[in-house]
Amino acid sequence: MKRAVYPGSFDPITFGHLDIIERSAKMVDELVIAVLCNSAKNSLFSLEERVNMIKEITKDIPNVKVETFDGLLVDYMRQIDANIIIRGLRAVTDFEYELQIAQMNHVLKDDAETIFLITNLKYSYLSSTVVKEIASYGGDISKFVPEEIIDRIYEKYNVNRENTYEQ
Ligand code: ADP
Repeated sequence: MKRAVYPGSFDPITFGHLDIIERSAKMVDELVIAVLCNSAKNSLFSLEERVNMIKEITKDIPNVKVETFDGLLVDYMRQIDANIIIRGLRAVTDFEYELQIAQMNHVLKDDAETIFLITNLKYSYLSSTVVKEIASYGGDISKFVPEEIIDRIYEKYNVNRENTYEQ
């Protein structure tokens, strides 16, 4: 059984994440989306909110599970018996950091293999941070995140969707 983890903050999940999820789910038997419970990172959405959004959006992909973890990723992987890590690469700026993490994980767990999926060109500029920034100013985020979660993002900034400009 080939089990992979796709770790991240997903604060909130975007079309860029979803693209990586759909593509990597086809490569493995089970994909566990592991939402990071990181108290040091100031997140907009609670862990529970992030998990619920991802569950809703991925409900039609049968081999995807959504879980949470904290601590070291390799320890979590031992717990769930996974040895593949999925990460998305948007640009060279992601590469240096990701390379370091992948090498470190390999040292900590010698059968851990990181698979990098190159982002779809149309999402290469997209990040959760950019989505939050645009939403906070009442900008249109419909091209960046699934419809199901748009209202929840605007709500965090007290933005009334009716007043946003959607093309
Ligand atoms: P982290 O806090 O670990 O960076 P993120 O939720 O921002 O968590 O990202 C999780 C993973 O998704 C990372 O591998 C990141 O490179 C990838 N990712 C984020 N945005 C995109 C995107 N637009 N296209 C492809 N991959 C992405």
